[in-house]
Amino acid sequence: MARTNKKVSMRLRRLITLSVVAALLIGAVSVFGLPRMISDQVAQLPESIQNIADQVTPEPVTIFNPPQYSIDDASSLWVVVNKQRQISPLRYKPENLVFPAFPNPQVQNPFNLRLRSEAALATESLAAAMAEAGEGTLILNSGFRTYKTQKALYDRTKAARGLAVAEKLSARPGHSEHQLGLAADFSVQGQGCVIMVCFGKTAGGKWLAENAYKHGFIIRYQKGYRSITGFQYEPWHFRYVGIELATEMRTRGIKTLEEFWELESAPDYATPAG
Ligand SMILES: [Zn+2]
Repeated sequence: MARTNKKVSMRLRRLITLSVVAALLIGAVSVFGLPRMISDQVAQLPESIQNIADQVTPEPVTIFNPPQYSIDDASSLWVVVNKQRQISPLRYKPENLVFPAFPNPQVQNPFNLRLRSEAALATESLAAAMAEAGEGTLILNSGFRTYKTQKALYDRTKAARGLAVAEKLSARPGHSEHQLGLAADFSVQGQGCVIMVCFGKTAGGKWLAENAYKHGFIIRYQKGYRSITGFQYEPWHFRYVGIELATEMRTRGIKTLEEFWELESAPDYATPAG
């Protein structure tokens, strides 16, 4: 009897030991193993959802990225300056002004003009493309102008031809894109109509109107848009905005920066002339 009791108690002890070990093992698995297995599955969930989203969402078709540049900052490539939008600060001068590297600077840059480096590079590539296409030699007739130069130009026009003509033809100081270093007045060697509306009818003027956007330039003052831009048709005045924006405007058939950015039309200055 005593032996039997001893056997039973030994079995019991073994059973208790095994149970404790088993309980510890189960506990360890549930504490460390299971949550990890579950968390692994949870971690995989967003990825699988993402995969489905990738299959459903179409790839973007354009690289155009509107928030890239400001339209207010004078140093921005997208800044919009017109009769209602004065350059700020008024006497702003860009820092990176350079002479475009033309093959024949005496002919192509007779007035030794500078542009902002981005616009200068684009002018070089535009001139090279034009020459390569057999369309002639590009000439830069006007580039960067200081506030002071613009004021002198405006005052001179006013003195010679009267206030109304000055207001119509020449931007008031602080309102010219030339002060940004991003505007270029082009002509083509031997084709005449320099800084004249008839430039738009020359072969070179037509070629520029068709191809300048590929180099980041737009014709800023299009025919029939004076009520929006404030200026008559100027087929010679090109504004550098970068290839992305110039191409986007072309693709969408939008002719003015005011319309593109849904800004108010600027037919007149906010303050009367004086
Ligand atoms: Zn101009």
